[in-house]
Amino acid sequence: MNDDRLSEEERIRYARQLGEGVLTEEGQVRLRRSTALVTRVGGMGGPAAMMLAMGGIGKLIIAHGGPLESPDLNRQVLGREEGLGQPRAGQFAETLRSVSRFVEVEALDDEPDDDQALELARRCDIIVSCPPTFEERLRLNRAALAASIPLIDAAQWGLTGTLFVARPGHTACLACAYPTAPPFEKLFPVVGAISAATGSLAALEAIKILSGTGTPMWGQMWVYDGFHGRTRQFEVARRKDCICR
Ligand SMILES: [Zn+2]
Repeated sequence: MNDDRLSEEERIRYARQLGEGVLTEEGQVRLRRSTALVTRVGGMGGPAAMMLAMGGIGKLIIAHGGPLESPDLNRQVLGREEGLGQPRAGQFAETLRSVSRFVEVEALDDEPDDDQALELARRCDIIVSCPPTFEERLRLNRAALAASIPLIDAAQWGLTGTLFVARPGHTACLACAYPTAPPFEKLFPVVGAISAATGSLAALEAIKILSGTGTPMWGQMWVYDGFHGRTRQFEVARRKDCICR
């Protein structure tokens, strides 16, 4: 395969997303040369990983511990009924490979600790952060800062989704928005439709950044309050005493 150009098969696969208002061929090649870390790959990270795989990213590293359980299947689109009780990461990786023969998927059976997050960030071009806990989200933020790569943070609660897009050295980081981890509710309510919408938009931002398409939402917090059907978007200010300074 010529590394600088798309193969004929790739040109056919991505025909609907190449051209004016979408990706250039050079952008599609840049996306193929890119690696994204997506963790976790449940309600938001699953659709994010799926859209990155189908969109033509070269390599995905996914991380998610534990077995697939029945309540996961209201939103974890990479799961299947027959996978209940089985570890998530391997079967989720198989689902991703089944939708694209062009993507390489590396699956980790656990959520990374501080050292692993940094090691993974150094092998990646972007982090798509979709864990439920602030502890993990702030850890991925620190890893993105240390490796100087963009971070897209996706979060959900009930019928609400939020997205934040950080560029180290240029915009606020996640810790500017959340200096300390707020209290965490383990089994918080969530409807799969908002998870998938938020995860898909996280993937869209990643595709834009990696391929050089459009205007990324750098430094912006996007909030969709699905309960009331309202959208808000605002710039997060950089804190002077933050770790990103
Ligand atoms: Zn910061």
